[in-house]
Amino acid sequence: MHCHVAGIGAGGSGAFISEQLRHSWKYRIYLKSFGISEDELRQHGDGLVIRRLSEQLAESQLVGAAVVLALDGVVDEQGNLDRARTESYVPNDFVARETAKYANLYFGASVNPYRPDALERLEQARADGAVLIKWLPAIQQIDPADERLIPFYEKLVELDLPLLTHAGDEHSFTRADNSLGDPLKLRLPLDLGVTVIAAHVATSGQQDGQDNMARLLPLFEEYPNLYADISSLTQLNKVRFMRRLQDSGVAAERLLYGTDFPLIRTGLTSPLFSLPQLGWQRTLPLLKVRSAWDQDVRLKLAYGLPAEVFSNAAALLLK
Ligand SMILES: [Zn+2]
Repeated sequence: MHCHVAGIGAGGSGAFISEQLRHSWKYRIYLKSFGISEDELRQHGDGLVIRRLSEQLAESQLVGAAVVLALDGVVDEQGNLDRARTESYVPNDFVARETAKYANLYFGASVNPYRPDALERLEQARADGAVLIKWLPAIQQIDPADERLIPFYEKLVELDLPLLTHAGDEHSFTRADNSLGDPLKLRLPLDLGVTVIAAHVATSGQQDGQDNMARLLPLFEEYPNLYADISSLTQLNKVRFMRRLQDSGVAAERLLYGTDFPLIRTGLTSPLFSLPQLGWQRTLPLLKVRSAWDQDVRLKLAYGLPAEVFSNAAALLLK
């Protein structure tokens, strides 16, 4: 339930990435992990990224389907898309249109709530089959605790659309305002009854001297409408959080399986990084698993996560 795509506008997708990101070392790594060259993109259009994702998924024995996320941009004071401050823009209509072609893909929309027509955009997303709304507050300059967002949250409840929002620090872009990833800012949507999914269980970073995961965990007892996804927890810089999550007592029914694709294909989530936790006997067979998806599932199962974690997303999102 957490896969990213990107595009350069090829084939009229309307997607773009900033010049800064395009010239950063991250760009080459992302292209490689999508399994695509820039020439192929120009030739076949950005839709190829989504086709490749569907094909890779079809080869997986353990993962049946994925939610592909659009990514709205930064919005300026006039309510217009601020291209200069947007690093990656992936329009809803592009993702809706392309995912509809593949039975194993679902549409995750992204709407910046500061757009003047944000509520209509939510309705459109729902009509186009969106199963959730995705935010990256630190990148999109969204303050989840801003009371001007109350009508937006009420609309999410009305449309029964969960909000998947990045919590904790963000490292995948060239700049971020990480104060916006404070899990306590999610109290406002949670109080209003929004189904909130905190991405990566708010691992990494801290606010007011307290680490973000520690700020998120107590909220699970307070709010039955809070969930978290376990994407990126096997990443080199995050493996220690896996055990911490298991020791935290958060119920398995509140955890959703996600990959943060394409990150599972960058090498950052190699089972080797879990060697200290799992030992050679459990790590070696994982290194031989060819599909990045299957390897990710098997690695997380090796930690002893209950099987239901891997099917909760379907139950929550595909009602
Ligand atoms: Zn992500």
